[in-house]
Amino acid sequence: MALFAALPTPCYVIDEARLRENGAVLAALAERTGCRVLLAQKAFSNYDFYPLLAPYLAGTEASGLYEARLGWEEMPGKEVHVFCGAYRQEEFQELLRYADHIVFNSIHQLKVFGPLGKMAGKSLGLRINPECSTQEGHAIYDPCAPGSRMGVTRDVWDREMDEETLALLDGLHFHTLCEQNSDALNTTLAAVEEKFGDVLPRMQWLNMGGGHHITRPDYDLATLENCIRHAQQAWNVTVYLEPGEAVALNAGYFVSRVLDIVENGGTRIAILDASAACHMPDVLEMPYQPPILGASTEPGEGHPFRLAGPTCLAGDVVGDYSFEAPLAEGDLVLFGDMAIYTTCKNNTFNGMPLPDLWRLDRAGSLTRLTRFGYETFKERLGRANRL
Ligand SMILES: *Cc1c(COP(=O)(O)O)cnc(C)c1O
Repeated sequence: MALFAALPTPCYVIDEARLRENGAVLAALAERTGCRVLLAQKAFSNYDFYPLLAPYLAGTEASGLYEARLGWEEMPGKEVHVFCGAYRQEEFQELLRYADHIVFNSIHQLKVFGPLGKMAGKSLGLRINPECSTQEGHAIYDPCAPGSRMGVTRDVWDREMDEETLALLDGLHFHTLCEQNSDALNTTLAAVEEKFGDVLPRMQWLNMGGGHHITRPDYDLATLENCIRHAQQAWNVTVYLEPGEAVALNAGYFVSRVLDIVENGGTRIAILDASAACHMPDVLEMPYQPPILGASTEPGEGHPFRLAGPTCLAGDVVGDYSFEAPLAEGDLVLFGDMAIYTTCKNNTFNGMPLPDLWRLDRAGSLTRLTRFGYETFKERLGRANRL
């Protein structure tokens, strides 16, 4: 806490030691099993840390052209994989410059773009939908929900796949998990085998997507390793994993300050210089309640406060916490696990400033990486750049 007291707030701090710890777990997994691990950049794309992460990883995974280019530029020499719900004609040619593996979401797009990809020497994949939901609660993160657009079901495969199109394919891709343990992967892999086991021997690789919470303390690595080995032995495929969260789990802090304390019907509300809607959007979208140093999410003990942002959005509320000591104006509030789905997802709604990024290195010193300001806000909204 004392370390952060002098920082201008709000700001994000990325913890290099924690990134290294996560990287070491993933690299050891790859070493033991021969699987290849990619960083899913949509969760964490602070490229100042790519040189640190690169030695632990096989490369990056992208959700489209810009992330593919970022991975190619900032993790040079490493693999670049891309999956997109649908590719645009005018982007595809440029994408071929950056991507090594290109995964399609439909057999139609595989037919349209596949021959171009093959000519450019790319490894091509198709996302399959094993129709196996293993998560409750977060429906917007369930690609196997009924009516989902994510991936080709076996039914559609049987209607649309032909021998010529199949010959374009080098691998299959599935992504169905979110913050889950390996039991869910085990269940999913059985569904993949049941539905697509007949075509997998013709593939060179199988990409098992992200959502594996591998670096969480209670994660069952042995079951994950069994899944990887099973795929390797049953189908002779190279196995890819592309976690986002697991790479940067618990590797960031969000530092904010109390601006004011108001009260309504007995509820004390601390208004921060930080916003859930702008700076930690998954708090509202997922939703979840982030950890805070010196506070508990359990009601009852300590001093209860609701934490909220200064924006006009009534629902810009982080959650209800019990603090060890009562909060006062000017107090620092330190959120944990703030490296993922934050800096790559934030916004300037209400003209809220974008929090700067800081690096916390192994020696415990802090370096400022960005200088966001009024210009950052203005640039996105109009003619500030005067083309
Ligand atoms: C979101 C996503 C990931 C990363 O998911 P995490 O939950 O951050 O591990 C990987 N691959 C694909 C295709 C994704 O959509």
